[in-house]
Amino acid sequence: MKCVICKAGETKADRATFTVDRGGHTYVLREVPALVCQQCGEPYFDAEVTKQVLAQVEQASRSGVDVAVLKFKAA
Ligand SMILES: [Zn+2]
Repeated sequence: MKCVICKAGETKADRATFTVDRGGHTYVLREVPALVCQQCGEPYFDAEVTKQVLAQVEQASRSGVDVAVLKFKAA
C-alpha cells in the first residue's frame, strides 16, 4: 500500500517499535510486525497486532513499572 504520511513510499512487511504512553507510563514494544514505509519509515500496525500489543501493555502495567521495554510476543 502507499504511505499516507509521505505519499511517496510503498509499505513493506517488516518489524517496528510500538510505543504506548499510558497514565504517565511508557511502554515500548520491539519487533512488532508492521507494514513499514520504505521512504519515511512510518509503521502501520493492523488491528489484530494492536490488540495483542495492548494486551501485553496491560500485563506490564499490572506489574507497576513506569517504563518497560518489551519484546512483542505473538498471541
Ligand atoms: Zn512514508
